[in-house]
Amino acid sequence: MNYLAERLKDVLWPRTCAVCDCGRPSDRPGSYICSRCYETLPWYDEFAKSAFGYLEPVSQLVNIYKFNGAVYLTEDFANAMELSFRKKHDASAVDVVVPVPLHPRRLAERGYNQSGLLAAAFAERINRICDETSLVRIRDTEHQSRSSGDDRRKNLKGAFRTADPSRIRGRTIVLIDDVMTTGATIDECSEALYAGGAYKVIPFVLAKALMDEDLGEDFIGNR
Ligand SMILES: [Zn+2]
Repeated sequence: MNYLAERLKDVLWPRTCAVCDCGRPSDRPGSYICSRCYETLPWYDEFAKSAFGYLEPVSQLVNIYKFNGAVYLTEDFANAMELSFRKKHDASAVDVVVPVPLHPRRLAERGYNQSGLLAAAFAERINRICDETSLVRIRDTEHQSRSSGDDRRKNLKGAFRTADPSRIRGRTIVLIDDVMTTGATIDECSEALYAGGAYKVIPFVLAKALMDEDLGEDFIGNR
């Protein structure tokens, strides 16, 4: 969106912080996270797979992003993802950005694919195309959060495929999702992309649920 339109929006609808609920406009231009709250974000880019750990306040923001239609957080999230991605990866080596797809039924229910929004905004920042149609979810496997890691993996087997291998073949792909829990979804999507002939798949998520082994001395936490 153009600069003037953005500034005008700031004047008409001041961006109050989505974290602290202080009601004051965010003091960070173009952002819904005020500078005080920004300092508390749980950055986590160990393994080069995520911008944040899935911890407060990011987990709370992801929740309203996913279920309360807080799509205005896209820009803040994409900025964070770009920042973390560029620290560990060479963006110029990327050909295309692909989101983890929602099943069409879920998409109709929710009205938007949060990973698609993140992927589109992220792709814009690294100057690449976002391809939201070449990877598709052919089975509805949501609502399985209570199942164990193994069940989850089994349940996801064959849930994804590439719709148009000619757009995948030989490509270096950044695969985007909002949250990585066990990694089963990302693994299954990567597998489908490799089966479609991808040269390299780089998974990258907004927030990674941290397992005990992740919380070692490398945990960056607040920085
Ligand atoms: Zn705040």
